[in-house]
Amino acid sequence: MRIANVAGRATFVDGEGAGLDVEKASDGRFPSDPQALFDEWDAVRDWASARTIEGDTGIDPADLRAPTPLPRQVFAIGLNYAEHAAESRIALPDTPPVFTKFASSLTGPNTPIVLPSNTVDWEAELVVAIGRGGAGIAESVAWGHVAGLMAGQDLSERVVQLAGPVPQFSLGKSYPGFAPLGPALVTADEVADPDDLELGCAIDGEVLQHGRTRDMIFGVAELISRLSAVCPLWPGDIVFTGTPSGVGAGRTPARYLTPGSTLTSFVTGVGELSNPLTAAENFLQRSL
Ligand code: ZN
Repeated sequence: MRIANVAGRATFVDGEGAGLDVEKASDGRFPSDPQALFDEWDAVRDWASARTIEGDTGIDPADLRAPTPLPRQVFAIGLNYAEHAAESRIALPDTPPVFTKFASSLTGPNTPIVLPSNTVDWEAELVVAIGRGGAGIAESVAWGHVAGLMAGQDLSERVVQLAGPVPQFSLGKSYPGFAPLGPALVTADEVADPDDLELGCAIDGEVLQHGRTRDMIFGVAELISRLSAVCPLWPGDIVFTGTPSGVGAGRTPARYLTPGSTLTSFVTGVGELSNPLTAAENFLQRSL
């Protein structure tokens, strides 16, 4: 099952560009609000699995928004791939570094993203949305708490991220538009192996990152277990699961995003998003 946010309404999509409005198709049983849908996730899934869901109207890609537009909690994991930790010149973590991307950074799969400076980096990531919440979730049952998967970007302003006496991951990664998600939320049964997904990103067709989620140091189930041991998880919460190697800051010389280009990110079997990049009016020339 695939659910997109089409101009603010939860919509079943068939992957071929057609959609079916969830609220209308369910005769009002389920809400149109894509975020509220997660509060009834098990019922939505059961309802949809008992039917043949086929799109009945064409979707304008420009109408797509973040499938999880306003989660109560956004978790993000740093240094979750060994080769990315190495290019970041940091030892392998024995516990996952956790930060947040504030909800104001979420955006849709085709939205233009405004770059505040010349030191914004790319990080293609698998993003997991929680369906059934809970605290102290055991790793063995963690996948059962997942609503679905999305492709995403953890865009990062590296100067802000690293400024000050300790790194400011949450701030440097939360400019408006720094968390594009989509194009739809895809349930795990739609992919062959949800623990081994190909992912990556490209700028204007030039591949910059290309990895597999099986190379995560802490897999999806372990992340859910570790996070829920501290923070009770709510339906609709999301987890950015970390990026593979190939980020701009790890290159010699370092390389960052430039206005006028288009950043395309993908998770094979889940989907692809393409965000054109523009310059802020007061675009800052910074150096690291
Ligand atoms: Zn990241």
